[in-house]
Amino acid sequence: MDFSFSPEQEILRKTIRQFAEKEITPLIEEAEEKHRFPIEILPKMGKLGYLGVSFPAECGGSGNEDISIRKIDECIVLEEMSRVCAGIAFGIQAAVIGAPNYIIRDFGNDEQKRKYLAPAIKGEKIGAFSLTEPNAGSDAASIRTTAVSDGDFYVLNGNKIFCTNGNIADYITVAVYTDKEKGVKGGISIIVVEKGAPGFSVGQKFKKIGHRSAENAELIFEDCRVPQANIIGEEGRGWPMLMAALNESRVSDSARAVGVAQAALEAALTYAKERTQFGKPIGKFQAVAFKLAHMHTQIEAARSLTYKAAWLLGQKKDIRLEISTARLFAAEMVSSVTTQALETFGGYGFIEDFPVQRYWRDARLFYFGYGTEEIQKLVISRALGM
Ligand SMILES: Cc1cc2nc3c(=O)[nH]c(=O)nc-3n(C[C@H](O)[C@H](O)[C@H](O)COP(=O)(O)OP(=O)(O)OC[C@H]3O[C@@H](n4cnc5c(N)ncnc54)[C@H](O)[C@@H]3O)c2cc1C
Repeated sequence: MDFSFSPEQEILRKTIRQFAEKEITPLIEEAEEKHRFPIEILPKMGKLGYLGVSFPAECGGSGNEDISIRKIDECIVLEEMSRVCAGIAFGIQAAVIGAPNYIIRDFGNDEQKRKYLAPAIKGEKIGAFSLTEPNAGSDAASIRTTAVSDGDFYVLNGNKIFCTNGNIADYITVAVYTDKEKGVKGGISIIVVEKGAPGFSVGQKFKKIGHRSAENAELIFEDCRVPQANIIGEEGRGWPMLMAALNESRVSDSARAVGVAQAALEAALTYAKERTQFGKPIGKFQAVAFKLAHMHTQIEAARSLTYKAAWLLGQKKDIRLEISTARLFAAEMVSSVTTQALETFGGYGFIEDFPVQRYWRDARLFYFGYGTEEIQKLVISRALGM
């Protein structure tokens, strides 16, 4: 067993950390206040190759040929970005380093990779992934959006909600039923809907309590006509694509949770050294010091589970158990760590001037993103034979 990152990965961590601190920090305040994803960060990241880490050269990416190395590299990028701003990191994940493009990378044809993936990796196009509907969240199989074949087109009807980047995306990988009778095995397809497609409109833009610098919207399809060439893979084969994209996203999101928790710990450590009560820094009180020690331990455990899951992704085994284990632990961890960090600040933790409240609010997303904690527990308990 070798738990060390390679020298290249250490350099990647150092450079992406520097990039995030220098380029993302100045964008946070306005982006969070206006609930706006600062898309201007994308071409900068594209130029430096950071958006290509998840994609091999044949897709126009800078990612390693070895899937394990590639996934670990991606987790490093997302962890470090989330350490600086979880919302902006989430916008980047949803736009490029995430579900829509995992699907196109793994199941799309050459033309789709050229049309969507290559420009996204350069930071020139924004992607999004849309599965959730008003009546279909955890129960993804109960989606109602349909696509009916009509000559050279599919005609889509239905409503989607909570689509990250949905209102600003150039293209969206949308989960639909092409044959409801067949159910998930043979009935679900993934179709790319482009901005401006006739019959496609954006509905409500959601105001969120955390991850405010990523945008989120409702999508409406009313007799929306999309060329048949926009289907990913074969008709009816969408369910395994969705499961693969969700599983891989759970690993990335665990890395993001680690980044947010790391930021909270660092803020609490600094504050515990600076804040004096009863004549000494509060960190000198064992109750506070032990809290910090516990936070560190929780983060390290989540980091290990996350990077182990990232490595396992390249081993071509069924690793749903390991992925959901990492995801569940990371979600519980970030909630606990950010709460303890907030408490370390006493009343100041409640004041918006200190970023620790942002980490605490941002942590809430990890409870449900890419499957709630209960869904992770379902996957884990089933794998344990329950
Ligand atoms: C900020 C944000 C960004 C998002 N981004 C996207 C996106 O880009 N694309 C996309 O498709 N979706 C996205 N989502 C949707 C997200 O994936 C769903 O919110 C999530 O899957 C949970 O679905 P739900 O909200 O409908 O909750 P529900 O499924 O209604 O769950 C409600 C509660 O019931 C529990 N529950 C449900 N079923 C079970 C069960 N069988 N056993 C035990 N407990 C159960 C849940 O754990 C939860 O506690 C986003 C959501 C938000 C808020």
